[in-house]
Amino acid sequence: MHEMSLCENIRDIIQEQASADGFTRVNRVWLEVGPLSCVEPEALRFGFDVVMRGSVAEGAALEIATPAAEARCLACGQSATVQHLYDPCPNCGTVKMQVTQGDELKISKLEVV
Ligand SMILES: [Zn+2]
Repeated sequence: MHEMSLCENIRDIIQEQASADGFTRVNRVWLEVGPLSCVEPEALRFGFDVVMRGSVAEGAALEIATPAAEARCLACGQSATVQHLYDPCPNCGTVKMQVTQGDELKISKLEVV
């Protein structure tokens, strides 16, 4: 389950931020999870609670936002909003779409004490 290692990355980023900015508790974490990131939000929530134990974000609430994904057609150059990897181009029907946004996972905001 790669959500576990993603949560470990998130924890490390939060810990680094905590030492840099001098906060000791995180109440809430906002994540942006691209719809094409292959991340299961439920698995992420589960992993989050487990992995954050003993860190500054122990017990923090997790808010997951899913922004729209965008891809550009390699055949005709058209950009479009896509829901799935391998969605065909709405303009020409080619399935050679290159994802330009929506396959990433990032921390968008932290509520700290
Ligand atoms: Zn196209």
